[in-house]
Amino acid sequence: MSGQSFDLVVLGGGSGGLAACFRAASHGARVAMLEPALLGGTCVNVGCVPKKAMWLAADLVERIALASALGFDVPAAPRLSWPRLLQRRQQYIDGIHASYRQRLQDSGVVHIAQRGRLRDARTVECEDGTRLHAGHIVIATGSHALKPDLPGAGLGGVSDDFFALQAAPARVAIVGGGYIAVELAGVLHGLGSEVTLLVRGKELLSQFDAEMTAQLAQNLRQQGITVRFECQLQALERRAGGIHARLQGGAADALFDTVLFATGRAPSTRGLGLETAGVALDDNGAIVVDAFQNTSVPGISAIGDVTAQAMLTPVAVAAARRLMDRLYGGQPEARLDYDNIPSVVFSHPPLGSVGLSEAQARGRFDTVTTYHSRFRPMLQALGEGQTRSLFKMVCAGADEKVVGIHLLGEGADEILQGFAVALKAGVTRRQMADTVAIHPTSAEEVVLMR
Ligand code: FAD
Ligand code: NDP
Repeated sequence: MSGQSFDLVVLGGGSGGLAACFRAASHGARVAMLEPALLGGTCVNVGCVPKKAMWLAADLVERIALASALGFDVPAAPRLSWPRLLQRRQQYIDGIHASYRQRLQDSGVVHIAQRGRLRDARTVECEDGTRLHAGHIVIATGSHALKPDLPGAGLGGVSDDFFALQAAPARVAIVGGGYIAVELAGVLHGLGSEVTLLVRGKELLSQFDAEMTAQLAQNLRQQGITVRFECQLQALERRAGGIHARLQGGAADALFDTVLFATGRAPSTRGLGLETAGVALDDNGAIVVDAFQNTSVPGISAIGDVTAQAMLTPVAVAAARRLMDRLYGGQPEARLDYDNIPSVVFSHPPLGSVGLSEAQARGRFDTVTTYHSRFRPMLQALGEGQTRSLFKMVCAGADEKVVGIHLLGEGADEILQGFAVALKAGVTRRQMADTVAIHPTSAEEVVLMR
C-alpha cells in the first residue's frame, strides 16, 4: 500500500470518523480510514451505547417496583444477573461492529487497523511505516477521560473502568458533577450500589438551567444517593476496609470499594504529528477549527471531540457529514450550525435541554419570561412513586420567542427532539400554546406550561 493515494484519509473510526468516511464514499471519494481499536470509538464501545444499556436496566428496576405497586406479582427483591446483562450489552455492540464492517466493505472504504500520524499536510504515516498520500486529511481522534492530579489518583477509575465492572460495587464514590458523574451515579444506585457524589462546586451540570439542576439534585437525594457539594477530594489511600477518600472543607472522610473520576475529558491530540504539520492547538490541547472545520493548515480538517466543541456523538456525525458534503458533494456552504444543540443527561428520570438557560437568556435579552409545569407522571401517580417532573420554557422579547426548553422527567429523552426542531425553527410561546395537546401524556405539558 506504500505510496498509495486517496482522496481522503481519516484518522479515527469513531462517531465522526465513520460518518466522514461513509458520506465521502457516497459522493464517490476514494477513502482510507485508520482505526487501531474497536470500530465506533467511544460512543459505541465505552460511551453512549453501553451507558444507555445500563441506564435502561436501572430504569427497569424502578418500573418493576411500580409494577408491583400496580398489583403485579413481583418478587420482593428481584435479582439481576450482571453477567447476563453484560452479555446482552455486548451482543448489541457486536451487532453495531458487524454493521459498520459491512458498510465499510460495501462503500469501498479501506480500513487500516493502525494508528496514524501526520508526516506533512498531505501524508499520513501508519504504525508500520506505510505512507498514504491524501488529497485531504480529517482528524477525528476523539477524547479521553481526565483524572485530577492528586495523591492516590491511581486507585480511582474513569468511565472506561465502569464499563468493565462485573457487578455493582457495594460503596461507590463518583468525583464530578457533570454528565458522566450524574449518569453513573443513577445507574449504579439503580443497580444496587450505595453511591456518593463528590461535587467540587455548588451545583450539578453548571452549564444547565440552575432551577432544573437544583431539582435534579433533589431527585438524586430523594432516591438515596448522597450528594456532597463544595466537597473537594484531596487524596485517595488504600486502607484495610477499602479506598479512603480524604476530603477538604470539613466533610467527614469516607471509605469506598470503588472510586470513579468523572472530571471531564481532554482531546486526544498527542502523537499525531500535529506540530510537524503545523496544526494549531488551543490552551487545552484541542484542535482549533473555523466554522467549516478547517484547521490552521489547508487540506487538514478536524471534527468531533478532538475539537472540544460540544462533545456529543450527533455533533461529531453532523459536522462530518456537512464537511464531506462541502468537500466532495458540491455544497460549498455546508457547515454545522453549533447553536441550539439539544442534549439529554440520562439521569433517573432524564434531563433534556435545548437552547439557553434562564440565566443565559437574561444575560442576552432585556425581556425574558419563563413558564413552568410541575407534575407527577401518571405511572408514578398510579404506582405511588414519588418522582415528579419539572418542565420549563424560557422565552425572549415581546413576541416571546422560545429560546430555551428544559425537561426533567419521565420521557424527557424522547420528548425533547421534536421540540428542538420547533425551537430551531423559531417557534414562539403563542404557537406552542396554539398547538393542541396530546392527552394523557407527559409531552402535553410542554404546550400547556404556564
Ligand atoms: P471517538 O468516538 O472517541 O473516536 C475516536 C477514535 O479515534 C477512537 O476509536 C480512537 O481509537 C481513534 N484514534 C485515536 N488516535 C488515533 C490515531 N492516531 N490514529 C487513528 N485512530 C485514532 N454523546 C452523546 O451524544 N450521547 C450520549 O449519551 C453520550 N454518552 C457518553 C457516555 C460516556 C461515558 C462518554 C465517555 C461519552 C459519551 N458521549 C455521549 C460522548 C460521545 O461518546 C462522543 O462525543 C463521541 O464518541 C465523539 O466522537 P469522535 O468521533 O469525536 O471520537
Ligand atoms: P463534564 O464537563 O460534563 O463535567 C466535568 C465535571 O468534573 C464538572 O462537574 C467539573 O466541575 C468536575 N471537575 C473537573 N475537574 C475536577 C477536579 N479536578 N476535581 C473535582 N471535580 C472536577 O465532563 P464529563 O466527564 O462528565 O463528560 C465529558 C463530556 O462527554 C460531556 O461534557 C458531554 O459533552 C459528553 N457526554 C455526554 C453525555 C450525554 O449526552 N448524555 C453523557 C456523557 C458524556 P466544574 O463544573 O466545577 O468545572
